[in-house]
Amino acid sequence: MLFAEVIVDISVKSLDRPFQYKIPEEMEQEAVVGAPVVIPFGKGNRQMKGFIIGLSETPLYDINRTKSILKVEKQGVVAESHLLSLAYWMKENYGASMNDAIKAVMPVRREIKEKVERFIFPVVSWEALAEQRKTFERKHNAARVRLLDGLLQKGSESENGMDYDYAVKALKVSASVVQGLVEKGLIQVSTKQLYRNPLTGQEADDSRAVLNAEQQEIVNQFCEEYDRRIRKGYLIHGVTGSGKTEVYMHLIEHVLREGKQAIMLIPEIALTFQTVKRFYARFGEKVSIMHSKLSAGERYDQFLRAKRGEIQIMIGPRSALFTPFANLGLIVMDEEHESSYQSDTMPKYHAREVAMQRGRMLGASVVLGSATPSMEAYYRCGTGEYHLFTLKHRAGGAVPPKVEIVDLREELKAKNYSIFSRTLQGKIEERLEKGEQTILFLNRRGYAGFVSCRLCGEVIRCESCSVSMKPHEYRGRVSLLKCHYCGAERKMPEACPTCGSKYIGTFGLGTQQVEELVKKRFQTARVLRMDADTTTGKEGHDQILRAFSEHRADILVGTQMIVKGHDFPNVTLVGILAADLSLNTNDYRAAERTFQLLAQAAGRAGRGKIPGEVIFQTYQPKHYSITSAATADYPLFYRQELAIRQMLHYPPISNILEVLAFSKEQEKAVELSLQLREEIDGWEKAVVLGPNDAPVVKLRDWYRRVMYIKSPDYAVLCDIKNRLELFMKKEEIYKDCMVSFSFNR
Ligand code: ADP
Ligand code: ZN
Ligand code: ZN
Repeated sequence: MLFAEVIVDISVKSLDRPFQYKIPEEMEQEAVVGAPVVIPFGKGNRQMKGFIIGLSETPLYDINRTKSILKVEKQGVVAESHLLSLAYWMKENYGASMNDAIKAVMPVRREIKEKVERFIFPVVSWEALAEQRKTFERKHNAARVRLLDGLLQKGSESENGMDYDYAVKALKVSASVVQGLVEKGLIQVSTKQLYRNPLTGQEADDSRAVLNAEQQEIVNQFCEEYDRRIRKGYLIHGVTGSGKTEVYMHLIEHVLREGKQAIMLIPEIALTFQTVKRFYARFGEKVSIMHSKLSAGERYDQFLRAKRGEIQIMIGPRSALFTPFANLGLIVMDEEHESSYQSDTMPKYHAREVAMQRGRMLGASVVLGSATPSMEAYYRCGTGEYHLFTLKHRAGGAVPPKVEIVDLREELKAKNYSIFSRTLQGKIEERLEKGEQTILFLNRRGYAGFVSCRLCGEVIRCESCSVSMKPHEYRGRVSLLKCHYCGAERKMPEACPTCGSKYIGTFGLGTQQVEELVKKRFQTARVLRMDADTTTGKEGHDQILRAFSEHRADILVGTQMIVKGHDFPNVTLVGILAADLSLNTNDYRAAERTFQLLAQAAGRAGRGKIPGEVIFQTYQPKHYSITSAATADYPLFYRQELAIRQMLHYPPISNILEVLAFSKEQEKAVELSLQLREEIDGWEKAVVLGPNDAPVVKLRDWYRRVMYIKSPDYAVLCDIKNRLELFMKKEEIYKDCMVSFSFNR
């Protein structure tokens, strides 16, 4: 008798362990590790879902009292067993329930009717098939004979071959019999029915560049090591436009030639028609893409196609990392520094770390790439963990842009109260005259920062979150307030809710306002705006970018969204309106983020034949993140920043574990956080900061307390996490509270 270890699909901490079930004989074929199942659970034998994570022949308890699996779900994607091991690794390293971890690695497990019809085609001639049929008959292989009889009859009637379901149901031929003949090279199973391939409709255009010496050197070394079966991590530090994407495509080609598959990770924000088109032009039907705007059915199809070996390359954001390829050879992670590679739900993993782990498990290499590498990745090149490649020059001969820093304090002194410095105004006008394009960049979305009363100073806040609500335009007027954390909306009040005064107004500056100011100042200009508010809907993003690349506008105003991975040859001017905006946040990464944003934005100018110009407007013109971004000197920035991280024990020198404690009651949240602190007091090799109120104290009606624990030894932080998890499991009074962990290393 066979038993299955099943993880129950439920987020209850005490149930986060495997339960043993009997596997009924008729299910033994399907009940593989990774399969989704339905089981009777608890005293009432409620039907629940679960996943098989292990099989064994030894019962753990009294066989007569062990329950049986009710059903193996046929609609679910069976996780490859290595994905389950990866889920386990994530649970151990990031703190999450096994159930959450399994869900992270199988994100498209949904019950959707598989929109697919499969057909069986002969691979050899009809005569050869008939010969084979005779052989099988002699050997009394009845099922094989039935299958070939059906194929000889049905298959010759229609060019569609024989319906797979017909073979299985009417002819009573099992899947393994079909598979056996596929392996013998007699037949082939394929889908006549076209998949809902999101790429159909893209035109192919394969203009392949001859690699320059820098690029060729990378490709040569990678391929040489790959062929010697060396698998490791690489980082390509290459300025924007240095031809990294071109290199990735060559590496992928090499890996594919060996019969392996590749995953190409791209931040969601950079997943535009331009990028995708290049891959499609080069690899055609071998490529598939995945992004959050695909419907559940479309995503499901993509995973299924990968699993069946119908595609060899998956392009997508961090969740594409879990594409169930059986023969993975390479994971590429473009724009490796992007914060969207960090998951914000449990398990709070970083795609870079998980990519490395998946690579280790499957024998795949990992190639990271960025114009502005994360401190972590660059540091690991120094320790020898990754190999560093550098691309110093722009490919295709484009010259680097000229960057000028404008001191906004000087503008005030000269009585220029506009958001555009005199230099920037002049340069925009020049562009308009010459018919060239400009990008204006502001790292803030919507309108002003907040709405407040000028009489009593009251700021309008979200009722569920402790943050100010942001004013937005609605029907041509600033009449709507939105919470950017939970999405709540309310009408702009006529009077102050606290004192009743009518003097209520918006403060600060947002992209909408910039758009209006641009239109007012440059009346002939055609202006487009791109931020999270104008890009909702399935194609919003692409439409704006397409319109701009077809020069249907002169000026594009936007948030950081526009600095990512787009190639606009006619853009010769990029203006950063407030370069220090991202510097004034209380995050240890503020300087790094600022450097990245500025350097990336600068890279947008002059990617074509015309040299580009970039203006950084700032109140802190001497800050190292701004000056080193202006000269595109990453190593200079890195050295200064590393010194600070060293001094303050921040990653990548040390590791930080952030522990958030949640409760619906404020006092209980405080009490819990103090208890957690007590639990780990005096722990060796760890420094604890806090607990304190989290920067956002209340979010979606949950009160939040935060504690930071630093240690140079990552394992110490994992031990602490385990201790706190255990505490939460055993303390009954905190059952209605939550704790979440996130690691920075
Ligand atoms: P990155 O990914 O580093 O930003 P891309 O691969 O997108 O750089 O290359 C930037 C531009 O240069 C693209 O238009 C690309 O087609 C072109 N390019 C890349 N490599 C070469 C090359 N070896 N010769 C000529 N043009 C190239
Ligand atoms: Zn008031
Ligand atoms: Zn809210």
